[in-house]
Amino acid sequence: MRFSGHVVLRGKKVGRPSQRITLHQHELKVTSAKITKHDKKGDQALTVSRINNQNALDEVRLHTEGMVYPGDYTLELDFEAPITTGMTGIYPCFFKDGEVEKQLIMTQFESHHAREGFPCVDEPEAKAVFNMTLVTRPGIAVLGNTPVKEQKEITSKDGGLTAYNLKANDTAEKYLVTTFEPTPRMSSYLLAFVMGDLISRSTKTKRGTEVSTWATVAQPADSLDYALDVAKRSIEFFEDYFGVDYPLAKADHVACPDFSAGAMENWGLITYRERVLLAYPGETAQSTFEQIALVIAHETSHQWFGNLVTMRWWDDLWLNESFANMMEYQAVDVMFPEWHVWNTFIAAEGLSALRRDAVAGVQAVKSEVHHPDEISSLFDPSIVYAKGGRLLYMLKNYVGEEAFRQGLAAYFKKHAYGNTEGADLWAALSETSGKDIASFMNPWLTRSGFPLVTVEQEGTELTFRQEQFLDDPKKADPERKWPVPLFATTPGLPDSFEAAEVKLQGSADPTLINSGAKGHYIVRYATDEQKKHVLDLVRSRELAEPDRLMLLNGSSMMSRAGYEAFGNVLAMLEAYEQETSEPVWDIMALVVGESRRFIDLDDALEPKIKAFVDKLVANQVTRLGWSTQDGESSADQKLRALVLGLSCYAENSASVAKAKELFAAYKDRNEQIPAEIRTLAFVVPVKEGDKAAFDFLLKLHDTTQNSDLKNDACDALTATRDPKRATELLARLKDPKLVKPQDVDRWLVYLLRNRYTRATAWEWMVTNWQWLEDTFKNDKSYDYLPRYAASCVNTREYQQKFRDLFESKQDQVLLKRNIQLGFEEIETRVSWLERDIASVQTFFS
Ligand SMILES: [Zn+2]
Repeated sequence: MRFSGHVVLRGKKVGRPSQRITLHQHELKVTSAKITKHDKKGDQALTVSRINNQNALDEVRLHTEGMVYPGDYTLELDFEAPITTGMTGIYPCFFKDGEVEKQLIMTQFESHHAREGFPCVDEPEAKAVFNMTLVTRPGIAVLGNTPVKEQKEITSKDGGLTAYNLKANDTAEKYLVTTFEPTPRMSSYLLAFVMGDLISRSTKTKRGTEVSTWATVAQPADSLDYALDVAKRSIEFFEDYFGVDYPLAKADHVACPDFSAGAMENWGLITYRERVLLAYPGETAQSTFEQIALVIAHETSHQWFGNLVTMRWWDDLWLNESFANMMEYQAVDVMFPEWHVWNTFIAAEGLSALRRDAVAGVQAVKSEVHHPDEISSLFDPSIVYAKGGRLLYMLKNYVGEEAFRQGLAAYFKKHAYGNTEGADLWAALSETSGKDIASFMNPWLTRSGFPLVTVEQEGTELTFRQEQFLDDPKKADPERKWPVPLFATTPGLPDSFEAAEVKLQGSADPTLINSGAKGHYIVRYATDEQKKHVLDLVRSRELAEPDRLMLLNGSSMMSRAGYEAFGNVLAMLEAYEQETSEPVWDIMALVVGESRRFIDLDDALEPKIKAFVDKLVANQVTRLGWSTQDGESSADQKLRALVLGLSCYAENSASVAKAKELFAAYKDRNEQIPAEIRTLAFVVPVKEGDKAAFDFLLKLHDTTQNSDLKNDACDALTATRDPKRATELLARLKDPKLVKPQDVDRWLVYLLRNRYTRATAWEWMVTNWQWLEDTFKNDKSYDYLPRYAASCVNTREYQQKFRDLFESKQDQVLLKRNIQLGFEEIETRVSWLERDIASVQTFFS
């Protein structure tokens, strides 16, 4: 578990002369260094007087006897380091092949972890061509960003290792030497390798790019087929859409057993969690197929947006992620039109963005970055991905598809292999659209939050008003305004307005705005007549799906902020009783989930909420039943799982009996349950305290290689109502052989959200905080912990517990942002629950 290396860097020294050269490194030991200057007089060696490994500063300083003047230099350094299990830098992935414990060795260099692998200038603007050679044990697959140029075996006996400046660090006699083709000019965070016992499937794109999907030998080969098809078609889609060819000769996609994020777009060697790459014929849910396609399309779009053209510095991270977030839907919509993924985009990304963006103190999409640790906390999925993606979707609809696409093609051609800022993209899009894009987009990107837009119509007179929307309106900035695109249903109105208030003459027809939920704002119709009109359109389903779901979402958000009582939102749900759209049901289920928070304040509400939910889902339970129908839409398959899940929550006796029957057949006779409804069939017996079911699912979790099935087992086991069982599950989290570190947060947060196990899980989290910190402090999932914890808090008692745990941890750069947002989120939520409990009690009585 050690590695050693030798790096040669060629480049230019700029700036003032000095007596040292500084490079990034983290936890490496640089053991020797040579500096050579190249000029007209030929090559001259500079004497390195001291190598200073400054771990606290992430630097190695090479002090020289003479001055280092500006000019061309070559540096050669030898270094070594242990391989540690944190999932950054160079790290091991553990898996079991039958009874044999094996591991892959792989890299995760984004955002600032290349410096854990080798000394370098580890910043996105420092692009370079990388020539990589890996010396490994023989008989394994060795993958890099580019195709293999040469591969040969050497032995330690004949001095073969010294040619690579390496010492044998174990007793092996034979080594495999793999040299890769040079990479394109690129940033250090995109360099990658994976090595170990892997299987693969391969194909070629129309233009001849070799595309392969890879997994450990423990996985069945046919689990790679679905991803392979999507990966190939994604490249073909983006080549066509961007008008720029995929720049490498090959694209590998690797499923990795230990992985912190969802996936990573290393150029030509994309790495994934197993769950978002592998699909098991007959055992994978429709929602998982969709997720796999979206993630592959996301990472493939980065091969252009991010890899070919890269943000200059991390404050423009949104240029990478917001863009990929939108383009994943663009690609999947073309590959699988029958899925209608733009509706999923509105429901998933839209809601996530609006709800996070309503918390006072949230960051803007474009935020300053000073400390490297801040980079990780910037990857807030609701802001940098979801909100940013939503803003680009708004922009695309504002300028039109064709101008958008042509602008992108021009942008890629102009900036290929270079670095950019937002202004470069706006310049390209302004040219093709003829609109001033910078002045439209900058307010949205640099200001946090979004407007509540009120529309007041009296006959033909229209008044539009905007104000900042926050869960706590007292904290809104009265001066904050945005250029609001109207997307109005009636013709003759301007494209957008920027003032606090505008009065316009429209037609006598009712005016609806933000049609298709294309804009990042929520709408409030002012008069009773307007409100009645939109609800009539909901009942008759004449309003489009995105508008139906955003209307309910807006109403529920306005209730949290005190514009109306939550009892009214529940009353509004009744207009949705005939609803058949899955994305709309997503927000309906979310509103039901919000109503369940009130149970923490008043237990007597629980049976009433259950009766209400049972009635709400009745039509769809009858329509969809328990079996997949031939030719059924993917939305209906997902909706079935959603409404049956709610029906089981409501303890509908027929649904509960059916779930138990399916589980018994699965457990006793190995009869498959349709993957989409598998979780709910697992959950029911666990909730009822069925000991045999619990033990069966725990064993299933520990033995299956199918990570989707593993997650379903986790979701069911954490639904237990027995605190003793919860204690058993929590005790397993510290053993990586039982629960992979990448999955610890899932187990913990599910037990925290479960009101029967919350106290036990909270106490475990407090007692084991030091372990959580030691294990995850370098990991993206670490800063999610306060966020997840805050999401479970509904009472003053837990508000205090949250303070007790996190108040003292605000000095950790990585946690600070999510702790402060947690304080804010909890205060507004608890105030809202206390304020609206009476209206909810009245509604249910
Ligand atoms: Zn991404």
